[in-house]
Amino acid sequence: MWVGESGGGAARAPPQALGLVAYYPEPVARLIEALQRLPGIGPKTAQRLTFFLLKRPSDEVQGLAESLTQLKQLIVHCRICFNVTDEDPCRICSDPRRDARSLCVVEEPNDLLAIERTGEFRGRYHVLLGALSPLDGIGPEDLRVRELLARLEEPGVEEVILATNPSVEGEATAIYLAKLLKPLGMRITRIARGLPVGGDLEYADEVTLSKALEGRRDFT
Ligand code: ZN
Repeated sequence: MWVGESGGGAARAPPQALGLVAYYPEPVARLIEALQRLPGIGPKTAQRLTFFLLKRPSDEVQGLAESLTQLKQLIVHCRICFNVTDEDPCRICSDPRRDARSLCVVEEPNDLLAIERTGEFRGRYHVLLGALSPLDGIGPEDLRVRELLARLEEPGVEEVILATNPSVEGEATAIYLAKLLKPLGMRITRIARGLPVGGDLEYADEVTLSKALEGRRDFT
């Protein structure tokens, strides 16, 4: 029996409302639907990926499945900086050679990695896990702002670098944090322009990002 078909007199749903489950064996439909939820993957790509995987050797697909499972089993957010890590605290937080006087605030773990790749920054990080976006209902309480404040209550940090993205949300987040942190008395800087507006730190090339970090300005 097709999913969505009812035995009795109830009105039958039109075919497009039955979803993929009506057309594919259940495991195939489930995977297509799961892949479709990933960013940048539409129904066509999800179908293509699913049928591609069907053709691959079992051990290869098994390997992929294990990586997915381990992603959630072994990867956690660092309890100090909220970077993703397989050891808590993460390698950066537990490295005594990193300069604890300088704290770089970023939106996402990928932004942290982008800055790490420049090799220019030797301080520590704080990952907000998002940016303020009133339209999407994302307020300060949805970000790791409280945890940032708690970190800054401990003495030692002399400069906070606001390295949120040069997007509307990133700018709003930087302005919000600058106001919030100002009374604490440490230097607050914002990475320089030169990064494409509306862009993402993650996709900036290393030279541009290095320059942006170098040219950071005091937040007034
Ligand atoms: Zn950490």
